[in-house]
Amino acid sequence: MALIAIDALDGKPFKDEVLSLVKRDAMEALNAQEILTWAVENFHPRLTISASFGAPEGMILIDMLHEIDPTTRVFVLDTGRLHPATYDLIDRVRDRYDKRVDVVFPNASEVQEMVQEKGMNLFYESHSNRKLCCKLRKVLPMRRHLADFDAYATGLRRDQNLNRADTRKLEIDSVNGDLVKVNPLVDWTHERVQDYVSDRNIPTNRMHQQGYPSVGCEPCTRAVAAGADSRAGRWWWENDDVKECGLHIQEQTDGSGI
Ligand code: SF4
Repeated sequence: MALIAIDALDGKPFKDEVLSLVKRDAMEALNAQEILTWAVENFHPRLTISASFGAPEGMILIDMLHEIDPTTRVFVLDTGRLHPATYDLIDRVRDRYDKRVDVVFPNASEVQEMVQEKGMNLFYESHSNRKLCCKLRKVLPMRRHLADFDAYATGLRRDQNLNRADTRKLEIDSVNGDLVKVNPLVDWTHERVQDYVSDRNIPTNRMHQQGYPSVGCEPCTRAVAAGADSRAGRWWWENDDVKECGLHIQEQTDGSGI
């Protein structure tokens, strides 16, 4: 399929034009490599990959974009509470793809103030504390980092949870400055992800072999039973309908919905 061009772009994303593409089903018909090629052609070098290094989907994006344009940037949010296996995987990816990974840190004084006031493990105390921690360690650092980009790619899949069921392959991220958000894997299944990882021998987080389908911050993730929802081990003490860190929720503009 021929890729869909953004006309009169002049190197700068044009929100209305991208929005018109969002509404066109043709965009949904593109496969993952076609979507990523489209993104590179329209946004590189102001395109980056958002990878948690705690799920295989982000690794697939890195692998695909390495084939399309190895100079594509990738970033990870280092909350300061990641699992040691996640740090190991960041270094393995650096070695395998000879790739710089942009490691994005929270604002130190904000985190310092939070833990001094509420404790190191404040997230177990209340939902509002958990939201605050995710806001300072994830949401705001990502927003600051994305200010240098016009588009980013994520490994979101629709079947990961109900909050993601309506995710489109192309969206406008109005929370982070009207960036173009590319979600090439939204229609992939867990089995397809596993097959791709296996076929291409893609490095993944070793905690997946220990019952962690999704590896987030170490104190907020635990192993799940075989066949359980892939995000069941995240924030297991909370209700299912509030289990998002806020990175992919669009309706809130101040981070209060995380
Ligand atoms: S997942 Fe847990 S430790 Fe990580 S930022 Fe959110 S609340 Fe804090």
